[in-house]
Parts: sequence; C-alpha cells; structure tokens
Amino acid sequence: MVPNLVLADSQGQIFDHPDLLMLCRRGQEWGLPKPHELLPLPKESELFLLPERQAVGLNPHTGVPEIVEDGFAVAAFVAPGHTLSAHPVYTQEANAQILPLFAYGAVGFANDRFYVAAQKVDNDQRQCFANIARSKIATKARQLQKNYPRNRLIAHIINNCVARYDCPAARNFALGRFEAPIPTSTSCNARCLGCISKQDAESQIKTTPQCRLTFTPTAQEICEVMRIHAERERERPIFSFGQGCEGDPLTQAGLLTEAISLYRQKSGHGTINCNTNASRPNVIPDLAQAGLTSIRVSLNSAQEHYYTRYYRCQNYTFADVVTSIRVAREHNLFVSLNLLFFPGLTDTEAELQALAKLVGENGVSMIQWRNLNIDPVWYYQTMTQDDEHLPTSSLSMGLTTFLKRLKTMCPWLIYGYFNPYLGDVAELTAPMPYTWVNPEKAAPGISPQVLTKTGISPNF
Ligand code: SF4
Repeated sequence: MVPNLVLADSQGQIFDHPDLLMLCRRGQEWGLPKPHELLPLPKESELFLLPERQAVGLNPHTGVPEIVEDGFAVAAFVAPGHTLSAHPVYTQEANAQILPLFAYGAVGFANDRFYVAAQKVDNDQRQCFANIARSKIATKARQLQKNYPRNRLIAHIINNCVARYDCPAARNFALGRFEAPIPTSTSCNARCLGCISKQDAESQIKTTPQCRLTFTPTAQEICEVMRIHAERERERPIFSFGQGCEGDPLTQAGLLTEAISLYRQKSGHGTINCNTNASRPNVIPDLAQAGLTSIRVSLNSAQEHYYTRYYRCQNYTFADVVTSIRVAREHNLFVSLNLLFFPGLTDTEAELQALAKLVGENGVSMIQWRNLNIDPVWYYQTMTQDDEHLPTSSLSMGLTTFLKRLKTMCPWLIYGYFNPYLGDVAELTAPMPYTWVNPEKAAPGISPQVLTKTGISPNF
C-alpha cells in the first residue's frame, strides 16, 4: 500500500490528492515509504499546514515527483511514544520563514485513514490525556497552589508550565501521577539550534514554545515538590530535573545534590532522574552519592562534528559528554540517551557505527528515540554544509533497520521514549565501560578488549 499525498488549500482544508502518491524525505533523499514504516495516525497526533511550502507527490504513471503549485504541504506532529522515520516532501519559497520548533512527519491517506511514517517505541500512557477533562487538571493545580502558597517552584509549574505551556509533565504533576518535572536552572552552557527555552537575539528562530526559568528554587522548595509528588504517586514516582523551561540542570549541580540528599535522608523513595547535556563529568559522583538514580543525556548525534554544530558548546566538549556517561555508569547510574532522531542523518551507517561505539564502550542502558523538533530542511542544510563526511555516509537505512542493527550490536539496550521507573537504585545490565566488543567486528575466540582508562576532564 502506498497512500496518496495529503495537502491543504489556502483555506486550511486538508485533503488527499486523487492521483499523486505520498513521498518521504530522509535528508537529501526523496522516496516512497519503505515497507512496514507506515502507521495509522495515532490518537492525539496533529496535522500541520506548512506555509510557504508546496506539496510534492509522486506521479505513479511517470514515476516523476510533481509539485502541486496551489497545494500547501502538510505534516503530522505525532503523539508521544512514536518516532518519525521520514519528513514530508515539499518545495519552499526562496524567503520562506523557518518553521517553528515542532517535529514534522510525512503523512499520507489511504483506505479512509491517515498514515504517518513512524514507529511506536513506547507503550507507556503517561502523556495520554484523552480521557482527562482540562477542568480536572485546572482544579487540582489550583488546589496545590492553595496548599503551598510559599513554594515558588510550585507556582512556576502551575502558572507557567501547566497554564501557559500546556506541558504534559506539569499536567501530570498537577494530577499527581507518573513523572514530576523539577526545573531548577536559569542558565545553560550550550546554545542548541533547536533550544525550546531560549534563542540568541540573532537567531532565525523567533519564538520558543517555553521561556527560561527566571529564579533558582531552594533545596527546600525542590524537596517539598518531591514529597508532594511521592505522597500522591505512591507506586512508581519519578522526579526529573532538566525540563523544557530551563537551562541545563548540571549548571546547578550543587543545588541538585543538596535537594536529593534532603529527600533521601528523610526516606524519600522513587526514581530521581536528571535530563541533561552531560557537560560536567566531575559533578556526577556527588549526585550519585546523594541518591540520583539515572541520567538521560541529550544528543542529536554520536558524531562529534554534528553534535558540536547543533549544541554549540560554550565551555565543554563532546569528550566531556562521553566521559560523563562513563562516569555515571561506573557510579551505577542508569544512563539513557535522549536521541534526537532525524531521518536521513541519524539512520545512516556512519551514525550507527558511532552510536554503537558510544553506547557499547561507555555503558548506556537505554535509548529514548525522540523526534528532533526543528525545520527539517533548515536543519539538514545547517548540519551538512561543507560536510566532507557526507558523500560516504549519507544514505538512509530507515528507522526499522537502524533499530534492529543497533540492538544486534548492543543486545542489552532498552528502547523507549520516556524515563522508566527504576526504583530508588537501578539494576543495570549494560556492560561496564571498556569491556564491550562490537559483535560485528569480533572474531570467534577473541576475548573482550580492555581499553585504557582516561581521567575525568579537569575543565570544571
Ligand atoms: S542543552 Fe537544553 S537548555 Fe541548553 S541550549 Fe540545549 S536545549 Fe537549551
């Protein structure tokens, strides 16, 4: 089955083209959907009209792509728990504005339903709100503020994250379920191209979906938020530092250590997680000692040249990120990668080899397959301009093949989308650093190679 092209008219009406077929974009490649990569559009997904962009479909009779001059391109923003495997194909006007910070999935229509190029990677329902009335969330949020009028962190989560940003994690905190967000940091030591809380004045991205936190909470305020959440989510509480409305939490490592210690010292239970750029390896041991359970490290790529083009690190290097992962595993932390998947750049042979090496040599336990929220054409051009790596490493193998091959090389790896509940202390099956041998390269009878340890980077 190849669905028909989906497009929109100038009134915003979305419809399927009677003849042209859906095309998929993977970096520089245009093609039909790969076998098995189409899903019926999941509930709670949304369709976007892409202004200043003309839809392109494949003429099945000529085999040639055709531009629909008066038809706007349409993309799907897929529900959480799904990873996009292709972007839509379109042409754009010369001075088209960069698209806002969302993920744009290729979408088609067949057999009376929409299909999206994506794969479900997590069954967790924590960001499903279909049967929960907004009034219930608002009532519970107001009650929390009434009960804790002096806690500025609660005020921020309720007044900004729930009311203005509609953040799923904040709504869950208001409801007293799953994973509580704990923003703490007003600053960051990176300048990500797609940062959702702050962009430079000269950035071509003019709006961010959230604003940066403007104060630093105290350890007592943080601990109070954790206790409130643990009292209401009694079975599987998760607490996560590092949210969309803040900078990087490791810039507040001392505060985090103090707050975690306070919570654990009074028998606080649950999984304490830190979503981070992992730029400061030397603060990891103290966090682990205080009672941190896991870290989730954000990466757009395991290849340094792509990483640095996207993160634009201010006072750290890609090597520091790798060292942080290794140190975390050595201190028995569960390490996830928050891999910002981008079809056509991530699902390539070069990325697979780099990612397997990063995961295998440094003890990563899980990959969360997230979608990179960014204008696909702009990002691809920015990443690959003057790229001497491109000619030999750029062909897309597709998300499904990429997932399978990585798992063959790193069979302990857990795949998902959300931070898992791990108890207070995680059980780890990821190999310790320096013990992994890539099964694709190991010959029978060769025992694991032990690599030389390097120290923690001294630059912090
Ligand atoms: S690491 Fe996070 S907070 Fe810092 S610039 Fe990147 S996206 Fe923004």
